[in-house]
Amino acid sequence: MEPILYFVIPCYNEEQVLPETSGLFLAKLNSLIESGKISSDSRVMFVNDGSKDKTWEIISSLTEQDEHYAGISLSHNRGHQNALIAGLMEARLRCDITISMDCDGQDDINCADQMVDEYLKGSDIVYGVRNDRTSDSWFKRTTAESYYSLLRTMGVDIIPNHADYRLMSSRVLDALAGYNEVNIFLRGIIPHIGFKSSVVYYSRAERIAGTTHYPLGKMLSFAIDGITSFSVKPLRIITFLGIVVALMSLIGIIYALYGAIVGGTVEGWTSTTCIICFVSGMQMISLGVIGEYIGKIYLETKHRPRYIIDERKNLSEVTED
Ligand code: UDP
Ligand code: MG
Repeated sequence: MEPILYFVIPCYNEEQVLPETSGLFLAKLNSLIESGKISSDSRVMFVNDGSKDKTWEIISSLTEQDEHYAGISLSHNRGHQNALIAGLMEARLRCDITISMDCDGQDDINCADQMVDEYLKGSDIVYGVRNDRTSDSWFKRTTAESYYSLLRTMGVDIIPNHADYRLMSSRVLDALAGYNEVNIFLRGIIPHIGFKSSVVYYSRAERIAGTTHYPLGKMLSFAIDGITSFSVKPLRIITFLGIVVALMSLIGIIYALYGAIVGGTVEGWTSTTCIICFVSGMQMISLGVIGEYIGKIYLETKHRPRYIIDERKNLSEVTED
């Protein structure tokens, strides 16, 4: 039996893009079906992430035109990573493999053949990796590179130059379902899951229309999420800083006491300085230690639902057995 493939495509305010790219996704799906690599039950599944424009109307009408299109709509905008996980979890019970990608034509759809080939050869995860960053600005290129090395220093294992264009088998999706964190950072989680993986290279195109949903501010908060949801090292750095400040305070105390002994200081200056030095040092250590615990609790206690599904199109009801 050929595997059932679901393309999982998050869309947020993409009315300009979808009419053009949806046909490309379907054509690729059909060619994979015709070549006998995947089952005819495969789907192009769009996830409408609470769009404010006509995105869901477009998706709905596509699902009426061709049974190979499917769609889910989230109750409101939850962000790219949550929309992606919503789609992947919906697909998990219905298919053998998923390929996730942007709906803006940036991820080269022609790589899908190679990804499926790698899966058929035994890989559970196939990462789409950009082979060059020439379509990026100097600023984006440099910040991306520094970010990858920062992540590595913090002990986060990610694949450089890989975004969210990847194939995953149902085994990986089942494992992914066990990661219940709200602060989701798929680029970190997927390598964390493990299993046999391989890489296909592609060159990332420009967005065919519309503008990116990741302006600088959002990219920065995504970058911070990536670190804080995978590493408690920043907290440890605070503790370490506290220790350094405490040591420096000790020197300050000795200096102040020396000043008092040899004379020449205003009365009360010595004790005030000692207290300030000592207390600030202790506060830094304490903050670091408390932060360490809060960090742990923070990583564990986020149990809110990551998304709520409002509507489904061309998706039969399935229940988890
Ligand atoms: N996206 C989404 N929800 C959001 C923001 C973005 O589902 O809140 C989708 C968007 O429609 C696109 C993908 O996530 O398919 C990646 O976004 P975008 O192309 O704007 O990011 P970039 O490729 O510029 O990093
Ligand atoms: Mg994009």
